[in-house]
Amino acid sequence: MAYVAGTAEPGCVFCNALASNDDVGSLIVYRGVYAFVILNLYPYNTGHLMVVPNAHVRDPAALSSGARAEMAELTASFCTGLRLVMGCDGLNIGMNLGSAAGAGIADHLHQHIVPRWIGDANFMPIVGGTKVLPELLPATYAKIRAEVARQKFAAGSVIVLLMAPDRSGVCLSDEALPRLPVASDTSVWRTVLNAIAPQAAACELLGWGGASSTVSDAAELPALAISFTPSVAATATCRLWSLGEAGSLLPDDDRAVLLHAVSRVA
Ligand SMILES: [Zn+2]
Repeated sequence: MAYVAGTAEPGCVFCNALASNDDVGSLIVYRGVYAFVILNLYPYNTGHLMVVPNAHVRDPAALSSGARAEMAELTASFCTGLRLVMGCDGLNIGMNLGSAAGAGIADHLHQHIVPRWIGDANFMPIVGGTKVLPELLPATYAKIRAEVARQKFAAGSVIVLLMAPDRSGVCLSDEALPRLPVASDTSVWRTVLNAIAPQAAACELLGWGGASSTVSDAAELPALAISFTPSVAATATCRLWSLGEAGSLLPDDDRAVLLHAVSRVA
């Protein structure tokens, strides 16, 4: 919270994020009618989300009943989603109202949802003044955004961008980006990594490959960008095409996805 309070960003960080057209850059994973859900740039733990009303108010009593109801619904559904996506053992939920109560941004109330794992607390915050996080924000963002696409927008499959570790090439399947069906009982990202692991010497989730705007999630498939090195046995079937070759072969929709991903993970 010292970082948050010390940021030089003018205005309110939540109102700025809401006004931004770049939901990936501002870490918004979902926009509702009265409230939105955003990843904390300075997480207490991996997967730390905040449910934030669109209205810039300090106190729950100043919100419309519709906003309060939607925040409660979003909190419930994202708790379920985080358990699936992050595999956490528990969750902390709470609001700090006013700086005396610990709010870093007191003027715009927000509800924290923090995933917890058994044994996740350690001495680092005390002796080092810092937290240890095992995952980069772009990967966490992609995991949660893909799950939102499935749970809120009923996406039945996911586009998989398998990219060379130096981002110079991408795998195609019949001159399109490969798609995988999502399972009902496993998170989208885990389904993807489980499917490609047998063909990979190495693979790592890089980030979100789809459009930036969360509003487009109702119409577009989720897309995950993955650093991929095929195993020796899979080299023949998982050929990496150069980005130029891929750009000329892909249909327009897939080319747009590739351009989004390259712009973010290059
Ligand atoms: Zn605000």
